Amino acid sequence: MFKRILIANRGEIAVRIIRACKELGIESVAVYSTADKDSMHVFLADQKICIGPPPASKSYLNINNIISAALLKKCDAIHPGYGFLAENAEFAMLCSKNNLKFIGPPEEVIRLSGNKSKAIEIMKQNKIPIIPGSNGNVKNEKEALSIAKRIGFPVILKSSFGGGGKGMRICNNPKELLDSFHITKSESLSSFGSDHTYIEKYIQKPRHIEIQIIADNYSNIIGIGERECSIQRRHQKLIEEAPPENISLKTIKQIKECAIKAASIIHYNNLGTFEFLVDSNENFYFIEINARVQVEHTVTEMVTGLDLIKHQILLSSGEKINQIDNNLTGIKQKGKAIEFRINAEDSENNFIPSPGKINNCFFPGGPGIRLDTFIYPNYIIPPYYDSLIAKLIIWGNNRTEAISRSKRALQEFHIDGIKTTIPFYKKILENKNFIQGKIHTHFIEEEFEF
Ligand code: ADP
Repeated sequence: MFKRILIANRGEIAVRIIRACKELGIESVAVYSTADKDSMHVFLADQKICIGPPPASKSYLNINNIISAALLKKCDAIHPGYGFLAENAEFAMLCSKNNLKFIGPPEEVIRLSGNKSKAIEIMKQNKIPIIPGSNGNVKNEKEALSIAKRIGFPVILKSSFGGGGKGMRICNNPKELLDSFHITKSESLSSFGSDHTYIEKYIQKPRHIEIQIIADNYSNIIGIGERECSIQRRHQKLIEEAPPENISLKTIKQIKECAIKAASIIHYNNLGTFEFLVDSNENFYFIEINARVQVEHTVTEMVTGLDLIKHQILLSSGEKINQIDNNLTGIKQKGKAIEFRINAEDSENNFIPSPGKINNCFFPGGPGIRLDTFIYPNYIIPPYYDSLIAKLIIWGNNRTEAISRSKRALQEFHIDGIKTTIPFYKKILENKNFIQGKIHTHFIEEEFEF
């Protein structure tokens, strides 16, 4: 078992990982940029070390500084959280070269998961359902056009190395495709370091359903639960729930089997998520692998009672699944959990970022409420990083209870000094289609005007 883990992250996920370390009796080391010296993760960890100035490229993405910090603090492992270096195969490789256990899947798995078109190609070869498309990178406009004509418009152009909802363009006709092709390629190159681009049929109003996987070093793989992540804005998730509503158990079972098969094909190991799009006829298609812990892992924790971060750490230390928990294979999801991503954004003003000082805050409590956050009164949210400041996770015996509890919790929740997405979520909770579980990835743009 590890003695001391360096957490190569900040914000709520750093706090979350520190909590798991403490419960496992493992020492934690926080890294921070100078902009984060007053951040909660710095206070909660057993030790702290500054790794650079505010820009992420000079601190949280600075591989040399992070590895040096881990060696200086005599850590035996690094937890990357999500974002930043979590899916950086180079970083994972350098960790092992320096005898630091990277808490995540092996380097080759990270490399493959990061190359979305390659992962899709492999899934196709192994008969995992994928969306009709190029099944690999598209070389030029001519090829793009002929594929689009074969599969039919609309299509979506996607960066092979894209992520976070970025690097995608929907094209409704040949002109839009030709106009977008080079822009997508050059944006991919500047944002993701590669111009590799692929094409998929654009599925109308799909649902985003994903499977949480747990896999150990001994080829044991379990599907732990499924999540609905269809409430998105600009392809970025805002509200997630577990388990999904209004979908047959048969379809869920098939998606889960596919995810486990996909994980075994690529020798997946550690915690991971296999993402699928599901159309209105419940046809489902693999879209990508997230080789890390996800923001929304919490909803699965709430309905299973598991601590996925602790499991992740134990798996990385070499434990077998049945050593961690003999009952994992038969794990059942109980009730309903909904997560609201509380972002420092002005939801009444085109979601523009709203960093700054939190003059005061009051957090909701009572039955079924969990809050993962790093904010506190007088804390100043720096403008340099992503806008997620809290995750409000609600559990109810059923969806009706989870929704009424969510309304109550959002009413109690006060953050003064900055704008947040809380008012927007209050509106969503009054929406008839949301209440009935009639949701898809275009729900927000169809139901709300900005
Ligand atoms: P990222 O890695 O940036 O999150 P994904 O491939 O996971 O990108 O897609 C993010 C979201 O974009 C999906 O949840 C869905 O809403 C939308 N999307 C992606 N591909 C398609 C597609 N072929 N048809 C319709 N929507 C899509």
